[in-house]
Amino acid sequence: MRKKRLGVIGVGSAGILALTHFCTWLGNDWDIVSIHNPKKPILGIGESTNGGFVGLLEKGTHFALGHKEDLKELDATLKFGSRFKNWREQSWLNPLLDGNTAIHFNSFNFKDFAYKRLHKHWPEKFKVIEGDVKSLDSYPHKVVVDVDGRKEEFDWVIDCMGYPKDLSSYVQSNCTPVNRCIIHNMKDYDLEYETDHIATPHGWMFGVPLISRKTYGYLFNDNYTTVEEATENMKEILGVDEVDGKEYLFNCYYTPKMIEGRVCKCGNKALFFEPLVANSIFLYILGVRMFFDHIMENVPAADLNARYVQAIQEMEDVISYYYQGGSIYESKFWDYATKMTRERLQHRMHFKNLWNQYSHLKSQGALHYGPTYAFAPLTWEIVDDQLGYDSFRSPGGPKLKNVETVASA
Ligand SMILES: Cc1cc2nc3c(=O)[nH]c(=O)nc-3n(C[C@H](O)[C@H](O)[C@H](O)COP(=O)(O)OP(=O)(O)OC[C@H]3O[C@@H](n4cnc5c(N)ncnc54)[C@H](O)[C@@H]3O)c2cc1C
Repeated sequence: MRKKRLGVIGVGSAGILALTHFCTWLGNDWDIVSIHNPKKPILGIGESTNGGFVGLLEKGTHFALGHKEDLKELDATLKFGSRFKNWREQSWLNPLLDGNTAIHFNSFNFKDFAYKRLHKHWPEKFKVIEGDVKSLDSYPHKVVVDVDGRKEEFDWVIDCMGYPKDLSSYVQSNCTPVNRCIIHNMKDYDLEYETDHIATPHGWMFGVPLISRKTYGYLFNDNYTTVEEATENMKEILGVDEVDGKEYLFNCYYTPKMIEGRVCKCGNKALFFEPLVANSIFLYILGVRMFFDHIMENVPAADLNARYVQAIQEMEDVISYYYQGGSIYESKFWDYATKMTRERLQHRMHFKNLWNQYSHLKSQGALHYGPTYAFAPLTWEIVDDQLGYDSFRSPGGPKLKNVETVASA
């Protein structure tokens, strides 16, 4: 009998997690084929995760948090949450979006780590094709991928080829006030099992600890802060004379059609958000689970696309929600950040309704029956308390610094 074929194009974080998911959940009547061009590098940033990522690795690659050699292979450290500093007078450990233990991992080690294990654990189904994808055409009963002039046919394909060249069919997101990031790596640092989220006068800075290095990313908005100002502030915070200075300029966007024909977009091909609370990999995992439901359970693409857009918009609300309460800094950036995120949330009826629902359920002692909205009701309760919003007792929306409620902001 002919084996069914699923192609996954790209071996960045998105491609590898898609391969791992489908090797785990599709049977030996499938070939799961990894296609990539070794001459095209991965983006190589995005190394903080949430609990679902560990669950995925455990099943697909037999990764175990307790195995030091597994952590070493991935250059990984444990993560229990995100440490918020300077957003309020007190610092706090923000819970993970899901699960209770995650990892920081070296994205440059991810492919070799996973390939070895996928070959070992799923030898009947895991296959590799190296080459450049020249075209990808979806037909009613197959997908044809041109790899260096050779036509490969698949039943389904997951496109993880990184940033889209053209964003005209994507939705531009206005959930975040930052648009630029400067990177610095440090070899000597004190390890804590958390991702730093340090507010600065110009935005915030992440710190992702690996065994071999800690990577800092200084996020700001270049309409309010020059690269020189950001660099100076980053040097001052880190106590260094120079920073590596690699830069990422970004738009935030998402596709309204994750699944089109027989092709599913994943990773930066599907969406890009700034890295607050490591939301991206969390959303990629959700996307591949939905694609599985389409392939195996015949859930219509239109329904899944609508649900994915809803999940993405919930994540946009999460991002805006953190910014709207400001930080300890009075600055042009924070003035802009709080205003634009409050204004955005004003128009999010789903978000307002959530607080009405949560407040009601909380008053009944039944909060855990509430809906998941990007994350679970308990996580919302903890985060809301940490941010000092008190939203559960002000159903019109969170109470903010100098402002009664979002509704009157
Ligand atoms: C500053 C910054 C910090 C971030 N931090 C986090 C974080 O902490 N946590 C998080 O979850 N996310 C984070 N992100 C998001 C991060 O961008 C993604 O998690 C990650 O880069 C996803 O990459 P990808 O797999 O989609 O694409 P890429 O890494 O770009 O991989 C693309 C792949 O496609 C292949 N390819 C491309 N074209 C072809 C072709 N024609 N033929 C064959 N192969 C091809 C390439 O060889 C490559 O393997 C961050 C992003 C930025 C900018």
